[in-house]
Amino acid sequence: MSDRESTLITGIGELVTNDADPGAFAAMTDAALVIADGKVAWTGPAARAPAADAMVDAAGRAVLPGFADSHAHLVFAGERSAEFAARMAGRPYRAGGILVTVEATRAASDAVLRANLRRLAAEMLRQGTTTFECKSGYGLTVPDEARALALAAEITSEVTYLGAHVVPPEFGADPAAYLDLVCGPMLDACAPSARWVDVFCEDGAFGADEAAAVLAAGRAAGLGARVHANQLGPGPGVRVAAEAGAASADHCTFLTDADVDALVSTPVVATLLPGAEFGTRQPFPDARRLLDAGATVALASDCNPGSSFTSSMPFCIALAVREMRMTTEEAVWSATAGGARALRRTDIGHLGVGARADLIMLDAPSHAYLAYRPGVPQVAAVWQAGRLVAGSP
Ligand SMILES: [Zn+2]
Repeated sequence: MSDRESTLITGIGELVTNDADPGAFAAMTDAALVIADGKVAWTGPAARAPAADAMVDAAGRAVLPGFADSHAHLVFAGERSAEFAARMAGRPYRAGGILVTVEATRAASDAVLRANLRRLAAEMLRQGTTTFECKSGYGLTVPDEARALALAAEITSEVTYLGAHVVPPEFGADPAAYLDLVCGPMLDACAPSARWVDVFCEDGAFGADEAAAVLAAGRAAGLGARVHANQLGPGPGVRVAAEAGAASADHCTFLTDADVDALVSTPVVATLLPGAEFGTRQPFPDARRLLDAGATVALASDCNPGSSFTSSMPFCIALAVREMRMTTEEAVWSATAGGARALRRTDIGHLGVGARADLIMLDAPSHAYLAYRPGVPQVAAVWQAGRLVAGSP
């Protein structure tokens, strides 16, 4: 199909559009959708569908917006399966952690990093993720962070500078000097490839003042803010995110009432990453509390080789429904429109007329199957900007 041809997808059992009220799940049954010029040109009842150059019969299956995975760490080398196995067995494991990945990443060639990144991106696409964010954070030197972001920028526009992931061992005695590097020469080298700046605000990583300094420096360089917040225990991350006008506070596993209030009263999206709690056997974040309070909730994979080595948004949806008491509608909204909000995007995450034609067809009649049949591959076909890029309808 050329970009100039239009395609009618008809016979859609359930078409999830998220377009009625921008803050809520919306769907129609017995529907059709027309793609033209890479965008959604028409949606409505199949019986009233207009003609198009090409036609696809969904035969009663569901069509959804592609997933928007707003939190992933994909530029790395090495793997940590032994660390995971030891953790699951309750055995101590000394040689683990982010710094293992930092060492392997620094030692890897550009070609190795690029191949790993592209393999994970292809894996995401096959599972229905049509937009993903990608962070640096395993280089932690000026050249290693800059190359991580340049590699990420080859395949996504949602690139995030995470020099403030941890203080690397060579700065162990002088974390203030590392902060100066992160906010100075490293930022200067990374900002041209990045849209966002992120900081791991947690005990053992970066405190409130340090995190605020990183976000302020990033903002001065033109980058929007995101924060790793309140993952391992209560802390200042959500407050820092709110004060910095961040797009998203990610993890949100341990929240005070004041944190919930901050998420409700500001545009900060609460991005929940249940793969991390699954992979570390920690308590899941309380999505129900956030939703009932009125916060905007996104779901993302946190794909990384340490705590959450899944690229699967359907898996995250299943966890969110089973373990975090989200409804199937809420979980699908959070994995699509919620992720788009966390990236401050209005062109994706929904299938209203004019949206980018990023959409998936399931081998199932309803979005609910994503949680109802966990672990089963159900994404039959994926379109990105109107082009069929994975599977076949
Ligand atoms: Zn993360």
